[in-house]
Amino acid sequence: MNHDTNNCIFCKIINQEIPAQKIYEDEDFIAFNDIKPHMPVHFLIVPKKHIAMLADCQRDDNSHIMLLGKMMTLAPVIASQQGCKDGFKVMINNGAGAGQEVFHLHLHVMGNK
Ligand code: 5GP
Ligand code: ZN
Repeated sequence: MNHDTNNCIFCKIINQEIPAQKIYEDEDFIAFNDIKPHMPVHFLIVPKKHIAMLADCQRDDNSHIMLLGKMMTLAPVIASQQGCKDGFKVMINNGAGAGQEVFHLHLHVMGNK
């Protein structure tokens, strides 16, 4: 299990060191399809800044508030682009006990086409 930027698989995707099916990118985020989808649409919204998990975000840090707000408000935009007409669900696993496997903050977005 890795918690550092150097060995982080999502940092490697962001830096184009390993491939991913990218569906969205801006200066703060990328989104790509999950390699093991749970639903017909299943993508991850990933901040480019390496933050290991949600609990590392501070509610008195405006940069964290902006980042989380942007991440959440991006979800319906990309879900719609991906064809989720009947809705979608979002999920963040925080910590190994909750099933977090990749320790770089990400929002799962899942739905049907
Ligand atoms: P977590 O359990 O940490 O919330 O979710 C990690 C997610 O990342 C899993 O759903 C897993 O399938 C996905 N994942 C892990 N490694 C890769 C990868 O190399 N590429 C892509 N596209 N998804 C990955
Ligand atoms: Zn990372």
